[in-house]
Amino acid sequence: KRPLLEVNGLQKHFNLGGGKILKAVDNLNFSIAEGETFGLVGESGCGKSTAGRTIIRLYEATGGEVLFGGENVHTLSGRKLHEFRRHMQMVFQDPYASLNPRMTVGNIIAEGIDIHGLGSGRKRKERVSELLDAVGLNEEHATRFPHEFSGGQRQRIGIARALAIDPRLIIADEPISALDVSVQAQVVNLFKRLQKERGLTYLFIAHDLAMVKHISDRIGVMYLGKLVEVTTSEELYANPLHPYTQSLLSAIPIPDPNVERTRERIILEGEIPSPLNPPSGCPFRTRCPKAMPECAASMPAFKEVQPGHFTACHLY
Ligand code: SF4
Ligand code: MG
Repeated sequence: KRPLLEVNGLQKHFNLGGGKILKAVDNLNFSIAEGETFGLVGESGCGKSTAGRTIIRLYEATGGEVLFGGENVHTLSGRKLHEFRRHMQMVFQDPYASLNPRMTVGNIIAEGIDIHGLGSGRKRKERVSELLDAVGLNEEHATRFPHEFSGGQRQRIGIARALAIDPRLIIADEPISALDVSVQAQVVNLFKRLQKERGLTYLFIAHDLAMVKHISDRIGVMYLGKLVEVTTSEELYANPLHPYTQSLLSAIPIPDPNVERTRERIILEGEIPSPLNPPSGCPFRTRCPKAMPECAASMPAFKEVQPGHFTACHLY
């Protein structure tokens, strides 16, 4: 069966003028099956949010393609583009900035319903109540304003807004990073429950592997605009291949003190290079503990080195 989303060689370069090109997203390749959760992980500035925004076409791609249900998202226009917009929705990182403070919660949630003409009057009101209920809020909240809610509640409102038009794919851009640690798990559980109830597919973006572990079926790790490793969650945690993934995983504390620590903490040297001036060859080579002479000479190809396990590293 064809994946719901196919990202082939996706590229988003920003021309900053004066000969400066920011290669925010460079040659991404991955797919997401219907009902699957794909976690996209990397440090801030690695291009993961830009990737999400380019996939949903908030940004136009500068190369490659995004296929949704086999259709190229970046060549749609007119009625077809409008229709496509119903199927993919975004949940943003900052639940404070992403909700209009002057709109009632009911009107915020109903925005998509209004844009797509999916109901008015009583039907619209019922739909809003049902959505508030689905995200663990209630219908009285519809007449209130965003500032009256906590961060976790606001993110629930953002999720209800995304769900309003029955999308098939939700791109969640660091949806729990801005929340108190105490409510992060609740919001992750809400995502999981909604997925089960509604058959949703997720692209779940996060800056660390601990956050995506419990929700992702497969994970992609990004560094300086490129994917360096993609595989299933279990495989990634048990058998990380890329030195960058190994260092990210080594930073996650093992919660049970009775379990003997099997991963040696790997501390990376140096800062992430500027994406405006990436190193030659492998983008990770300036910080890689395993770098070899050939790593400076040529860029390792992103390839399948074990069944379903892709990485870009000269060690494999
Ligand atoms: Fe490290 Fe070389 Fe692999 Fe890059 S290609 S991750 S520098 S070993
Ligand atoms: Mg971001």
